[in-house]
Amino acid sequence: MSDFEAGISPLFTESEISNRVEALGRVISEAYAGQELVLICVLKGSFIFAADLARRIRLPLRIEFFGVQSYGAQTSSSGVVQITLDLAHPIEGRHVLIVEDIVDTGLTLSYLSEQLRARGPKSLKICALLHKPARMQRAVDIDYLGFTIDDVFVVGYGLDHAERHRNLPYIGVLTATP
Ligand code: 5GP
Repeated sequence: MSDFEAGISPLFTESEISNRVEALGRVISEAYAGQELVLICVLKGSFIFAADLARRIRLPLRIEFFGVQSYGAQTSSSGVVQITLDLAHPIEGRHVLIVEDIVDTGLTLSYLSEQLRARGPKSLKICALLHKPARMQRAVDIDYLGFTIDDVFVVGYGLDHAERHRNLPYIGVLTATP
């Protein structure tokens, strides 16, 4: 195992992820058949997932980026997040799918959905790669889900710890930090 993988125990392999993303793409393509979709990639953690998912969706598609950041430990528990990058185009009257890396407490996504719903999309749904139901504080309807996981801290495939490990091609559990 090379240095950049130290302290990480593999959870989902590249091929497991790729099969799951392909299946999600197929279901989403069928669900929105005949319509145009706007994918909202929530930065930074979703950038790899959104890139792979977009290539598995057989529909006319627009991709928007939305940057969010928790204010800090205290305010993140109240679900208040700071918008660091706003959408480049309006979503009013559009079918919108939020692409999120992981739903943990659910606070970020419930805040995000509220913000986006206020902009008048024709429909608003959520696609999350991972879900940790053990830590759920706010119920979030995840319309399309990759994997359910235990209460562990995962990295890789876009997910970071202190901005590291995003480039790991698989998803692993962080077992030790340097
Ligand atoms: P929530 O508001 O649902 O608690 O938090 C969601 C955000 O917390 C995710 O978008 C992600 O940035 C971060 N997060 C939650 N759990 C994990 C995890 O296991 N690993 C990583 N890398 N980030 C996580």
